[in-house]
Amino acid sequence: MSNALTSQSFPFEVVAKVRESSTITSFHLVPLDRHHWQHFEAGQFLTIQVPDPSTGGYVLRNYTVSSAPSDEGMYRITVKREAALAPGTPQGLASCWLHDVVEEGAIVIINGPRGGFKLDMGSKRPVILLSGGVGITPTISMLKVLANESERPVWFIHACDSGAVHALEKEVETLAARRAGIHVHYCYRFPSGDDVERARFHSAGFISRETVQKLLPLDDYQVYMCGPPPFMQAMYSLLTSLGVGKKNIAYEFFGPASLLSQAGHGDVSGVAAPPPTPIVDQSDNGIHLVLQKSDRRFAWDGSSESILSFLEAQGVEPPFSCRAGVCGSCVQDLVSGDVEYSEEPLDDIPPGRVLLCCSRPTTSIALNL
Ligand SMILES: Cc1cc2nc3c(=O)[nH]c(=O)nc-3n(C[C@H](O)[C@H](O)[C@H](O)COP(=O)(O)OP(=O)(O)OC[C@H]3O[C@@H](n4cnc5c(N)ncnc54)[C@H](O)[C@@H]3O)c2cc1C
Repeated sequence: MSNALTSQSFPFEVVAKVRESSTITSFHLVPLDRHHWQHFEAGQFLTIQVPDPSTGGYVLRNYTVSSAPSDEGMYRITVKREAALAPGTPQGLASCWLHDVVEEGAIVIINGPRGGFKLDMGSKRPVILLSGGVGITPTISMLKVLANESERPVWFIHACDSGAVHALEKEVETLAARRAGIHVHYCYRFPSGDDVERARFHSAGFISRETVQKLLPLDDYQVYMCGPPPFMQAMYSLLTSLGVGKKNIAYEFFGPASLLSQAGHGDVSGVAAPPPTPIVDQSDNGIHLVLQKSDRRFAWDGSSESILSFLEAQGVEPPFSCRAGVCGSCVQDLVSGDVEYSEEPLDDIPPGRVLLCCSRPTTSIALNL
């Protein structure tokens, strides 16, 4: 896949660059042609084209819109600077470019918004917005909508290392003060003396079972969560053990999956995902997925939103990142059969290839997996 954005990608000007914490900065983006601002739903993300000096080309990165859909004409993205993990290792290409090079007045090329992690406005259930670190970007956008456009009870729970890296704190508090029924809880892993003195947090260490039990009355919640993989895994186990239904936990993972493997988490696809279900070879539609390399065969029961989700439910772990047809990480060889796309991929997919994250089989298919 080419890495330069093509169709439906437009130039936006950075009209403001705002430091939110020692590691997190927001960028306010306005299209050069105002018709290129598109409505979005809280939780969706933009794809940005970033120059790659090592190839002279571009890489694509996704950033969730942290402003509200009602802020028409402008998108805000809020980006964590990914520093080098150790001396001699590379720093984050796109995040450091945004932090260190992109200033007010710069033009960036953007596609979107898109993505399936969205606040369900049709529901009346109480909401838990649960975030770790820069995972606050979708939950703050959701909080803006919930504070201004609904009466649903909301628990906004945010975990981060300390006050120094805590982003958007004032904004959350202003939103929470807008109406009754919005509860805020901050958990700092390593609070500083100053954090303690200023009582900036409600609990310390990790978000524990006791904290959650104390905070949340028994109810039928809808949970939206976003954060680093270990946080997501811990919160998913905690919530399900407290009786929150798996189908009521929606999550976004900032990827890429390869970093999860590097971090030693073997189950890259299992972040907050349901455990593998037993394979029952009984489909009424007669559609099967054959994995040629690993010599496996599954009956497609039609219940999964994509081939990727279906394979994950069977315990197969293909690589992925954006899960929205943007990044190309989940492309595989399609040896035979046909698929349809639920989300139009950003680039044309050549014959004989398939993006697993946004496609479903229309006939039996064989993959070179
Ligand atoms: C749907 C979605 C929404 C997202 N929303 C946001 C958001 O709102 N805010 C946000 O900050 N991020 C968000 N992200 C993450 C974002 O897209 C980028 O992945 C992130 O900014 C890192 O990109 P990068 O180019 O800076 O880092 P990369 O260059 O991709 O590197 C990432 C990290 O890996 C390390 N690294 C790089 N190469 C190697 C290597 N060879 N070996 C070992 N380590 C290496 C780097 O030091 C860095 O820490 C989102 C991702 C997705 C999929």
